[in-house]
Amino acid sequence: MKHRIVVLGAGYAGAFSAGFLARQLHTDDVEITVVNAEPDFVERLRLHQLAAGHELPHRPLTEIFAGTGIRLRVARVVELDVDRRRVTLDDGGRLGYDTLLYALGSTVADHGVPGVADHTYNVAGRPSALRLRARLRALGSDGDVLVVGGNLTAIEAATEIAEAHPDLRVTLATSGEVGGWLGPKARKHLLRAFDRLGITVHENTTIERVEPSAACAADDTVFGSDATVWAAGFAVHPIAAASGLAVRPNGQITADRELRSVSHPNVFVAGDSAFVIGGNGQPLPMSCASAGFTGQQATATIIGELTGRPVKRTSLSYVGNHVSLGRADAIFQFVDGDARAKPGALCGRPAVWVKSAIVGTSGWAISRPTFGRLDHHYRTRADAGSPGVVAA
Ligand SMILES: Cc1cc2nc3c(=O)[nH]c(=O)nc-3n(C[C@H](O)[C@H](O)[C@H](O)COP(=O)(O)OP(=O)(O)OC[C@H]3O[C@@H](n4cnc5c(N)ncnc54)[C@H](O)[C@@H]3O)c2cc1C
Repeated sequence: MKHRIVVLGAGYAGAFSAGFLARQLHTDDVEITVVNAEPDFVERLRLHQLAAGHELPHRPLTEIFAGTGIRLRVARVVELDVDRRRVTLDDGGRLGYDTLLYALGSTVADHGVPGVADHTYNVAGRPSALRLRARLRALGSDGDVLVVGGNLTAIEAATEIAEAHPDLRVTLATSGEVGGWLGPKARKHLLRAFDRLGITVHENTTIERVEPSAACAADDTVFGSDATVWAAGFAVHPIAAASGLAVRPNGQITADRELRSVSHPNVFVAGDSAFVIGGNGQPLPMSCASAGFTGQQATATIIGELTGRPVKRTSLSYVGNHVSLGRADAIFQFVDGDARAKPGALCGRPAVWVKSAIVGTSGWAISRPTFGRLDHHYRTRADAGSPGVVAA
């Protein structure tokens, strides 16, 4: 009987990890199944562009995994039973596993604010980005857009919308400072870009309630809004917490340095869903880079576990943030070993080139998860089969 590896999610972490496992492990020994809600690889890094009206390349997962031996199951995971080692899908199907790699990413965090679920738009997933795109189109040349949040996604969404829809009035409200973590050079550049794009900024403004056509702040300011874009952070889907895995308050699965769940040793985690301490002693931020590092480490650990080979340690370090400010402007903020902004930053065209190289390279790499090679040179240990309870 082959060892069943199930990878949940085919985003940056899951697609890469599945491809790497397929490339390294022998097909006689393992069966790799990837479950993803959408038939395509979704370039999440560019969803603010999609929402603003740009087209993104179509990357069907059937083409990405063709010839790799990976089985693709397009369905939504609705439940995970880690004791019975079973995944339940929205099409009624069930999948048993011996080893699970959880890489379902993250979703929008509503922070318990009333009205967010019913009256806001977001760019955290493709369906929601498409809803926002339709709303912006429907507004045409007259309307108020309120972006809530002051971090990377809020900045990218506000600037992209303002640039693509210059007739709409775009306002950003954030409980702290917009881009407050940036170094002085980058923050100055950011504020100039907001000014150029005509975005009104309200800092130290916490939105406490959202209504169909307005958002209300803690200081009683009411923002009239035809489209409120909630970009105030990400949280992990509640599936992980409900499964009984050890999780953090934001739903992230607590993992050790080798990306193994601290509560369930045959569950591994990568990407936004993972809570892991990085090389600087701080939790790795949810990011594309972290998805790469954690995917590399999780797959190295799984291969070590199944083959008995020493587990290779990959770097879990973080060097900077790249932030787009529309299509023709960007910031690349370098950070130090403690993830604090360094004074230096790339701004303007050079940062646009860096950003588009990063986004382009990650899309290219995901489209070739085995890099055209299927070495299959690692055989699994004789006892790596299917220990413990098998799902009914
Ligand atoms: C608009 C936007 C801009 C961003 N810009 C940047 C940036 O510039 N730099 C950066 O580093 N990071 C950026 N990020 C964050 C980055 O996209 C994430 O950190 C990264 O996508 C995490 O990778 P992942 O594989 O964990 O999750 P994802 O890429 O989200 O992949 C998760 C996969 O799981 C699937 N899935 C989810 N739920 C289910 C379910 N129940 N059943 C089945 N499948 C499911 C999804 O369809 C998806 O394919 C941005 C995010 C957004 C939304």
